[in-house]
Amino acid sequence: MRLNDILDTVGEYAKNADLDVIMRAYVFSAKAHAGQTRKSGEPYLTHPLAVAGILSEWKMDVDTIATGLLHDTMEDCLVTQEEIFSLFGDEVAELVDGVTKIGKLEFRSKEEAQAENFRKMVLAMGKDIRVILVKLADRLHNMRTMQHMRSDRQKAISQETLDIFAPIANRLGLSKVKQELEDLCFQYLHDDVFSELTRKLNDGASDRDQYIKDTSQTLQAELAKNSLASEITGRSKHLFSVYRKMLAQNLEFEQVHDLLAFRIFVDDLGSCYTALGLIHAKYRHFPDKLKDYVAHPKSNGYQSLHTVVMGPQGQQIEIQIRTRKMHAIAENGIAAHWRYKEGHLALSKDDIQKVTRLRELFEAAREVEDPAEFLETVKVDLFAAEAFAFTPRGDVKFFPLGATALDFAYSIHSEVGNRCTGVRVNGRMVPLRYALTSGDTVEILTRDDQRPNRDWLSIAKTGRALSRIRREIREDERSKGREIGQNLLEAELQKYGATLRKLIRNGEIKAVARENGFRRSEEVYLAIAQGRLTALAVCRQLLPANVFEKASENPGAITQLFQKIRRRTESPVLINGVEDVMVSYAQCCRPVPGETVTGYVTRGHGISVHLSNCNQMLALDPERRVPVQWHGAHQGRHSGEVRIICTDTMGMLAEIGAVCKTTGINVTRMTAGQIEDNKAEIILEVSILDIRELQNLMRLCERIKGVIAVERVRSHAQN
Ligand code: MN
Repeated sequence: MRLNDILDTVGEYAKNADLDVIMRAYVFSAKAHAGQTRKSGEPYLTHPLAVAGILSEWKMDVDTIATGLLHDTMEDCLVTQEEIFSLFGDEVAELVDGVTKIGKLEFRSKEEAQAENFRKMVLAMGKDIRVILVKLADRLHNMRTMQHMRSDRQKAISQETLDIFAPIANRLGLSKVKQELEDLCFQYLHDDVFSELTRKLNDGASDRDQYIKDTSQTLQAELAKNSLASEITGRSKHLFSVYRKMLAQNLEFEQVHDLLAFRIFVDDLGSCYTALGLIHAKYRHFPDKLKDYVAHPKSNGYQSLHTVVMGPQGQQIEIQIRTRKMHAIAENGIAAHWRYKEGHLALSKDDIQKVTRLRELFEAAREVEDPAEFLETVKVDLFAAEAFAFTPRGDVKFFPLGATALDFAYSIHSEVGNRCTGVRVNGRMVPLRYALTSGDTVEILTRDDQRPNRDWLSIAKTGRALSRIRREIREDERSKGREIGQNLLEAELQKYGATLRKLIRNGEIKAVARENGFRRSEEVYLAIAQGRLTALAVCRQLLPANVFEKASENPGAITQLFQKIRRRTESPVLINGVEDVMVSYAQCCRPVPGETVTGYVTRGHGISVHLSNCNQMLALDPERRVPVQWHGAHQGRHSGEVRIICTDTMGMLAEIGAVCKTTGINVTRMTAGQIEDNKAEIILEVSILDIRELQNLMRLCERIKGVIAVERVRSHAQN
């Protein structure tokens, strides 16, 4: 960037502008920075010159561009504000002072609430928004030229940029700047992922280019057929947004479908909707991804229609529809509003402040002392685009819309998520599935013995929470499986007078595990519980063959005695009534807690619990039968079905209903029909905790006048 380029650029958008101030600022800066070099070895002056160049691309006024040239003179060269004031006037002096103050701020502390960071920033930039624009241009150029820095500095600066400056660029509607900053930060923070994504994107680049070309033409022709003039561009989405999507939805690169985004430019607002209608008529769209920022502009002024459709060749593509004017605002944010009167950049401070709601932010910052209160005032404005919520300490967390309180818990820490028992939002208890609303303050309650369960998979929405929950559930199931398998093996060993403890001690178990291709003994137990190995087969590997011959002949007196003493461990598997991956309840006999049951180790699907006299189970391999016992404190609800044969129907339904009501049993279904001899059959399906509840209900039904018989219905598959 040379001074002449800047002067040419400014001269183009601001005819008759006072270029003299820019030239004087250049000379002053060159003198102040004389002899200084950047890390790259270049003269330091290249930096302020580049910053001024960026500001001229944003069509800034001459004072701001002069500030770009001067922005590092106070910090680095001991130039005073008075000097700048006397040479360039109070506006430039104030701007330079503002930029210098921001430069001295420390934003990096993770512990410090983000609210406080923003507050400091806003206070430092004073009442003039141009300060932050110069700071953004400064940061952008520094990020572009960071190659020569130490890697830890690169990372620290990138993190700060991602946390503070990219959101501010976004807030000002400078979307191009925001994207470039994000991609640069991404490159330094996640070097390896960045190069991998770049490579993968480049791999398919020529195919994608062809697709973009073809599709643009197709879309344009489609609109032209309906006499709608348009211009269409297509591009791959920027890297960081692809990466963010992968993180948020827990996707691999290959699973990100809408890599391509198309923009349709039309002449006027009405045509935006016409174009949308025509596109939707031609291609299937995803209604939940349709966004109307034309009717409801974002708080930074952004306007556009967004839709995602199944485009040509079944490719998922994003389409944005907007007018040229909307586009200018989308690209350059507030800079698109700059006004030039009579050839001069007539930019009063008021003009700029009117452009965004940031003015409210500034005023709030000056009046409010307490950071929390400050945030209360500005938070909705600052982060209007996304859902965000606060920890009780005031740290802000961002979420995709629709995220729940449980997602919030996992965003703090996986362990906080795993142990989450309740959530208080703005002081009130809410269920875990509570959908976060921007501005909520969320407090997570935890208990050490809490564990994630399968229901949570339908509650959490963020990829982070879902993957953590899945991992925990899998781990819980495996550890439960190992425990069950170990008990099964122990019970089997007892039959032959052997104990597991001894076999573990002398390394036999480990050897058998290796023989079966497992690295650890625990995996043998899991395989037994899952039915991939039977306990007997493992015993045969563990014990000498003669043990089995003796046992099958005639159990000796000692073995029998052993078995009697160890009777209590005859029920190695305790079941608590809830279905899970290791234990399920057989549909053929539908046992409920309290009934005498036997387990059957299925192949690969854990233990299926049957009634001990279930004919279906008795017909299966006896070696796979295992003793099971109801846990004293069973917790699950079971569905029980009862058939009632009676004389009258109508009155009977009412009476049965009344009986259920007095017992507090929940009826899930009741059907009635005529059978032979003027009798009626009523089928009652109820939700019960155990057999006693069901028997009690059946007894009460039997007492009803007109009831002939009451019996349980065991299987749906009967008759
Ligand atoms: Mn600088």
